[in-house]
Amino acid sequence: MRNFRDAKFSMKSKPHVAIVGAGAFGGWTALYLLEHGVRVTLLDAWGPGNSRASSGGETRIMRATYGPEQPYSKLAARALELWEKYERRWKKQFLHRSGVLWMVSSRDDGYERGSLEMLRDARVKFEELSTQQLKKRWPQINFSDVRWGIFEPQCGYLDARASCQAVVDAFVDAGGKYRQVAVLPDGLEDEPLRGLTLSDGSRLKADHYVFACGPWLGELFPRTVGEIIRPTKQDIFFFGPPAGDSRFTDAHLPVWGDPLSEDHGNRFFYGIPGSDRRGFKVADDTRGHAFDPTNGERVVSQATLKRVREYLAFRFPAMKDAPLIETRVCQYEQTPDSNFVMERHPRLSNVWLLGGGSGHGFKHGPALGERMAELILRDGDPDRAWRLSRFPKRQSS
Ligand SMILES: Cc1cc2nc3c(=O)[nH]c(=O)nc-3n(C[C@H](O)[C@H](O)[C@H](O)COP(=O)(O)OP(=O)(O)OC[C@H]3O[C@@H](n4cnc5c(N)ncnc54)[C@H](O)[C@@H]3O)c2cc1C
Repeated sequence: MRNFRDAKFSMKSKPHVAIVGAGAFGGWTALYLLEHGVRVTLLDAWGPGNSRASSGGETRIMRATYGPEQPYSKLAARALELWEKYERRWKKQFLHRSGVLWMVSSRDDGYERGSLEMLRDARVKFEELSTQQLKKRWPQINFSDVRWGIFEPQCGYLDARASCQAVVDAFVDAGGKYRQVAVLPDGLEDEPLRGLTLSDGSRLKADHYVFACGPWLGELFPRTVGEIIRPTKQDIFFFGPPAGDSRFTDAHLPVWGDPLSEDHGNRFFYGIPGSDRRGFKVADDTRGHAFDPTNGERVVSQATLKRVREYLAFRFPAMKDAPLIETRVCQYEQTPDSNFVMERHPRLSNVWLLGGGSGHGFKHGPALGERMAELILRDGDPDRAWRLSRFPKRQSS
C-alpha cells in the first residue's frame, strides 16, 4: 500500500483516491486532497446535494453553540474560517450572516452555560442576552417562557445544494475527475478492496477509497457500519408570511434554536427566517422513524405539521394563520450518540468511512474535509469521539 506520510508527490507518484459521495462530507474531502497534490476521482449516484441526499435542499444552520465538553464548537469555528476563505476565493456567498439565536427556557441550563465556555475557547463571538434584551430586539417573538439567550452574530444559514455544487465545480476546475455514477455494494467488504464496481458496468481502481455516503453508509457496509448509521425521516415546513411583512425575513430575524422546556414538551424546534427565495422554515428536530433514502416517499406527516403549527402559534403569534407554502422530507444519518464517524475500515486498510452527520454535519463540511484529507495524507489517527470502535459490538462482527 502506498504510504501517504510524505505529502509531497511528483506527478508520476501521485496516489489515486476514489471518493464515493459528493455531499458536504465527500465534496470538501475531494477538494482538499486535490489541493494537496492527490489524484482524486469523485463519484456520486445522483449528484452533489441531490434531493435524496442529506445535503439536499436549500439551507442549513451554521452555529457553534453545542453544549459542554465536545469537539464541535472548535470544528465550527474552523469551518467558519474556511467558509469565509472559499467565499472570498470563489467570489460567492454561501453563509448568510443573519445571526443565530439560541433560546434558553429550561430550568436546567447546564447545556447552555457549558456552551458559553466552549464558544469562548473557540473564539466564536457571542452575546448573552437577558429576556428583557431579547424582547426589545425581536418583538415578533413571544419570549414569555424564555429565561435568557445566546446570540452568535457571525453565524446564520448556509446555502446547502448550491455550495455542494460549487465545491464540485471548483474540484473539476482544479483538475479533479467527477463522475455521476453509482458504486455497487458488491464485494465492498472483501479483503483487500481491489476496486469498485460501478453502475455503468465499469470498474474503478484506486490506492485509497473514502466512502462519504451519508445515509447509505450502513447499507454499503452492513457488517461494519450497519445500523450504527440509521436514516431517520425529518419533515421540514415552510410558511408564508403576509405580503409585504418583512418582520419574518432574514433582514429582521435571526436563525433560531429553541429547546423547549419541560413545561412545553421538551422538544427542540429550530428555524430559518424567510429569505428572498423561501418561506419561513420551521422543523421539529425530534428523530423520526426509519427511512429509506433511495425509495422512501417524501411526504410530510400530518401529526408533525400539527405540532409545528402549534409551536408557530406559540412562539411567533403573528404567524399563527400563515399558510403552509412548501414542505420537504430529508433524513438524518443518525448515530446512537450523534457523533460523526471518521475512521479507517477496521479490516480494510485502504478504506475510510466518513459520515454520521446526525442532523448537524453540514456546517462542518469544510473543516471535516480538511481533517479527513489530513488523516489520509499523514496516515493519522482519527478523533476518538468519531471512531467506530466506540460501538464495540459492531467491530467484532
Ligand atoms: C432536514 C435536515 C436538516 C439539517 N439541518 C442541519 C443544519 O441546520 N446544520 C447542519 O450543520 N447540518 C444539518 N443537517 C445535517 C447535514 O445536512 C448532514 O449531516 C450532511 O449534509 C451530511 O452530508 P454527507 O455528505 O455525509 O451526506 P449526503 O449529503 O447524503 O451525501 C452522500 C452522497 O453519497 C451519494 N451516494 C450514496 N451512495 C452512493 C453510491 N453507492 N454510489 C455513489 N454515490 C452514492 C449520494 O448520492 C449523496 O450525494 C440537516 C440534515 C437534514 C436532513
